[in-house]
Amino acid sequence: MWRLTLQRHPFLLWRSEPDQVRLRELATLFLARKEFCGANELPVTDEMAVSIAAQAALPVLNLGLGLYDGFVGIVVHPDQVIARREEIDEDGVVHQFDEELSGEAMQGGPVMLSWRDVQSAGDSCQWGYNVAIHEFAHVIDMADGAANGTPPLPDPNTRNQWKRVMGSAYNRFCSDLNRRRPSELDSYAAKSIDEFFAVTSECFFVNPRVLRSEFEDVYALLKSYYAQDPAKFIDP
Ligand SMILES: [Zn+2]
Repeated sequence: MWRLTLQRHPFLLWRSEPDQVRLRELATLFLARKEFCGANELPVTDEMAVSIAAQAALPVLNLGLGLYDGFVGIVVHPDQVIARREEIDEDGVVHQFDEELSGEAMQGGPVMLSWRDVQSAGDSCQWGYNVAIHEFAHVIDMADGAANGTPPLPDPNTRNQWKRVMGSAYNRFCSDLNRRRPSELDSYAAKSIDEFFAVTSECFFVNPRVLRSEFEDVYALLKSYYAQDPAKFIDP
């Protein structure tokens, strides 16, 4: 099953053998500590749980599972979930709308994933899309108590440098998007700085060349934070 999981996910398969061995250990510990639950009577098979565990383990390969201590449950939905949203605009007018969610991570709560999206990870990595890594990046971001696009960092200097690099890359991305300058990064990253961190993280792990060529500074920051250099496996 582990071999099959690697084969289905090119971004796991291209890793070095020592990385794959440690990934398997970490995924095994992840499976032991977390509880999976299928929504709408979806049965969560071992194959599904192993696939999610392997993808969850990838970002914390060199950071440790402690970053995931804030949650236990993983709720797997068969498909995307419609969430009713409410927003108040500058004039105080309340807007109600439906949002389609492929996944959701909340402070202290379970991680929600759409299996349809998780299942397509082997193909969708071509355009840098990976819902599992996206949601687990949110969990990492929130591990210091705030969903602000800054994960737990050791000291104020590192935090300031992080905010400077991420902030300026985020502003550049938003203004490029407004000017309709093409980018291979998912435009969803423009929603907020914490989404920018989650989207650049998924791209970093599954389509690293794109992130390295478009956002060299963000790539370098994530490389140093995650203590991994995924691009070297496909483009040494
Ligand atoms: Zn998100």
